[in-house]
Amino acid sequence: MKTNAIVIAAVALSLQATAVLAQTKPGVDKLYILNCGEGSTTDISRWSPGVDVGKPMDFVDTCYLIHHAQGWLLWDTGVTDAIAAMPEGLAPTDPKAVHWRRPKTLASQLDQLSVKPADLKFVAISHTHPDHIGNVELFPTTMLLVQKVEYDWPLPLGVGRFKPEHPVTKLDGDHDVFGDGSVTLIATPGHTPGHQSLLVRLPNTGAVLLSGDAVHFQSNWDNRRVPAINVDKDKTAASMQRIAEVLAKEKATLWINHDKAQRDSLKMAPAYYD
Ligand SMILES: [Zn+2]
Repeated sequence: MKTNAIVIAAVALSLQATAVLAQTKPGVDKLYILNCGEGSTTDISRWSPGVDVGKPMDFVDTCYLIHHAQGWLLWDTGVTDAIAAMPEGLAPTDPKAVHWRRPKTLASQLDQLSVKPADLKFVAISHTHPDHIGNVELFPTTMLLVQKVEYDWPLPLGVGRFKPEHPVTKLDGDHDVFGDGSVTLIATPGHTPGHQSLLVRLPNTGAVLLSGDAVHFQSNWDNRRVPAINVDKDKTAASMQRIAEVLAKEKATLWINHDKAQRDSLKMAPAYYD
């Protein structure tokens, strides 16, 4: 009788332990791709000096929402949601830059997933160009993850980029976001002083490396072309080499933020990668 009671108690304990383990399953389990803008340029050679002069091209702008057992992380925020209300989109002052449109707001896509802005644990930013930080202030209480040299970059666009009161962790190089190696910021400077990319190790899909603007589209990556708008050409070239090494080591796939052909081949939210 006594032995039975001990066995029952032991089974109950082990069931409890299993339940706790299931609740606290470690690591990253979902990655959603969000539409954070669509655009077009009349001259692609801005991104490939001397090559494809006068050739038009369509761009996309992409955000990625990642769920980890410890909470949500948003990678980049796209062009501002305000563009969604502009019938003709936002025309650039330089006619060769990108004319952006916003078919869907970031807010509506989070809403569709029942994720509230206050639910986010982190917003990580590849760099501070407007097509990546356009909606940072949708998340005024969420911790920003930005490289320190990027945060301190003296107003290259002539405007303040982050509100001084916005919570921020200023990073100095690579950073393991959740402390378990599942989501890692990789310093890839050059395009801007503190540009970073994001390595996500998904359990079923495998590793993916989210480019930021370390590279803009596939042919530029294949030919290692550095765009005209770039802060440090040598650093950009070194960062491309670093990305190639990470891809080889991790057997990772490079997902290029602005590459429309690639994005069109991937599944968008509410579908997700796990
Ligand atoms: Zn950029």
